[in-house]
Parts: sequence; C-alpha cells; structure tokens
Amino acid sequence: MNDIIYFDNAATTRVRPEVIETMTKYFSESYGNPSSIYKIAQTNKAVVEKAREQVAKAINAEKNEIYFTAGGSESDNWAVKGIADSYSEKGKHIITLSIEHHAILHTCEYLESKGFDITYLPVNEFGVVEIDELKKAIRKDTILISVMFANNEIGAIQPIKEIGAIAKENGIIFHTDAVQAVGHIPIDVKEMNIDLLSLSSHKFYGPKGIGALYIRKGIKIKPLIHGGAQERNRRAGTENVPGIVGMGIAIELITKEMKSEMERLTYLRDKLIDGILNSIPNSRLNGDKEKRLPGNVNVSFEFIEGESILLMLDMKGICASSGSACTSGSLDPSHVLLAIGLPHEKAHGSLRLTLGMFNTEEEVDYVIRELPPIVSRLRDMSPLYEEYLKNK
Ligand SMILES: *Cc1c(COP(=O)(O)O)cnc(C)c1O
Repeated sequence: MNDIIYFDNAATTRVRPEVIETMTKYFSESYGNPSSIYKIAQTNKAVVEKAREQVAKAINAEKNEIYFTAGGSESDNWAVKGIADSYSEKGKHIITLSIEHHAILHTCEYLESKGFDITYLPVNEFGVVEIDELKKAIRKDTILISVMFANNEIGAIQPIKEIGAIAKENGIIFHTDAVQAVGHIPIDVKEMNIDLLSLSSHKFYGPKGIGALYIRKGIKIKPLIHGGAQERNRRAGTENVPGIVGMGIAIELITKEMKSEMERLTYLRDKLIDGILNSIPNSRLNGDKEKRLPGNVNVSFEFIEGESILLMLDMKGICASSGSACTSGSLDPSHVLLAIGLPHEKAHGSLRLTLGMFNTEEEVDYVIRELPPIVSRLRDMSPLYEEYLKNK
C-alpha cells in the first residue's frame, strides 16, 4: 500500500504517467508558439487541434465549439459574465443553485453588484434541485440558467437533461459547471441541450491550470480575456501547449475507461459508506445514496469537528477533506451542507472522502479500520458528547 492514501480526488487528482510523459516533449523540444510559422510551431498548432477534437468527442460536441481556458474557474467566469454581457439587452435575470461552486456563486455576486438579478434556487435534502422550483423561477427577463452537473462536496447529480429541455423551451441559455462530472459520468451536450459547459483537466488526471469552455455554435459571448487572436478571437493568450496536449490525452483515456471505472468506484464507494455507517454510531450520509458521483463519500459525525478528523487522518497518511477545499481554513460550515438542511453542528462534523482511479480496495479497508477509533477518541474529548451521554 502507498504511504499516502489519497482520498481527495474531488479537490484535485494525480496526473497520469502517460500524460506527464507526453507533455514533457512540449516543454523541451517542441516548444514553439502555435502562431509562428516554422515547423516546431506548426506542429504545435496541429497538436492543439488534435486535443480540441479529443475534448469535443468526450462530450459529443463539435471541435470548433471547444475553447481552451486556464481551468474551471476561468470557464465558469467566462460563461456567466460573457453571457450576462452579451444578452443584457434582453434581460438581467440569471438562475443558478445555492450549492454551486464559488467560481459560479462569487461571479453571480459580482454581477449583482453590476445590476443583475440572481435567483439562487434551493435544493432538496439530497442536494438536488426540484424541477418545479426551476420552472417557477423563470421570468421574461431570464437570460441564463447555470446549474452544476454534479456537486463537488456531496456528489449530487442534477437532472441536467430535464433542465436543458426547459431552458430550450423557454429560449434561455443553459450553462453547466461540469468540472466534477466530465470523464466520470456520461455527458452528451446535444442530447442534454447544453449551450455552455465548463471542464477542468486536473479533475480527471490531467495537469492543473488548463480547462475548456464548450460554447454551442450560434451562442454570442464576449471574451473574458482580451488580447491576441487565439481561440478564434474569443480567448487571448499564447496557448498552453503542454497543458492542452496533456488534457487531450487525459480526457481520451478517462472516457475510454469510464464504464468500468464507474462500476469499480461505485463498489468501493458503497463499501466505504456501509463500513463507516455500520461501525460509527451517530453518523449519517450526506446526499443521496444512489444519485451521486461514483467516487463521492460525504458523512457527518455528531459531536466532533471535521477539521480534527482531518488532522488525525493525516497522521495515518490519509488525505481527505471536510466540506470543500475552498472553505477549509475558514470556520464557516459548508454552504452545501447547510443548503441540504444540516444544522451548523452537524455540518461542522463532516468528512469528504473522494475516490479515484489510483485507489484500491485495500485502501478502503484501511480507512474503514482507522476511522472508527479516531472518531471515538475525538468524542471522548468532546464536551458535546459528554452532555449527550449524560442525557441519554
Ligand atoms: C474544481 C472545481 C472548479 C474549479 O476548477 P479549477 O480548474 O480548479 O479552477 C469549479 N467547479 C467545480 C464544481 C469544481 O469542482
């Protein structure tokens, strides 16, 4: 077994060896700027286009509907600000979810300060939006619906195809932050009526700092980054050739393995969930047991703090997260756990374990063995637990 047991694949993933190997060449040998005319530059132009095709194929888009960006956050910012900017004459209302990633939520808050009106839809106890709530929120001046494909904290998968159909019926543009979903569960932008989709390479075993925005043909969108004519005048900046090549290979490989990997991870996930819930009293699973990402486990333990669990897991070589990576370090409980109705104290005692391609059953068994004594030790030190025992 590895010294480091990495159960934080929703935060980022280890880069696959094949990806690293292929990328190396584009730092040291074929380093030309794709806009230049000599051979090592023109070669790079071609490899960038090949990667564009690989990305398009993974989500059933056309090659010229893929635009490279510096990652999921940029893609989300571009989609929301770009559409707001291009369609503000039609209206200034945007619908999104209260449980979106901060790349969407903080972008929407920024737009509020610029006079846009944002509806943050609630979700049910499983973290899923109710279609009726969405329908009721639609107004004449709604220009954009932005709903994440799958949630990064509790793994809840949204009814994307139904939302796509409703958006189309009402003539509203539909964007989805699919950063947690791409490569992990099936996506078809045509069948699901998706107009814009954000993805990020480091969530599927590719390098960090590279991602893409799919923009359906015919959608108007102002650039976020102004400058040169790259990406057909829509996203300036010299192409991140090594990153783009790496993302292309990573997405092709993970798409090929998706079916078998979904099965394997679902088995490991359910073994981990059952192992934890059966051996630790006063614990609960956050999110739906079935409708969740294959690799996502999110549990809450009463009377203790998630942060303390993380520190003790770290001493056992286990990397995990409590809530989202972005909120750790702050004392606010996760906005997602609060949105599914957890009271503050239960939201504080939560633990997220996210599995990926490098995890094994042996590692899952190790966590099932190591976690219960950690929770017991922390509860023995907890005044809340003492009080609970007294009142029992
Ligand atoms: C990781 C993540 C992002 C941000 O992507 P970066 O490439 O790290 O900027 C956005 N949305 C979701 C759902 C994510 O999980």
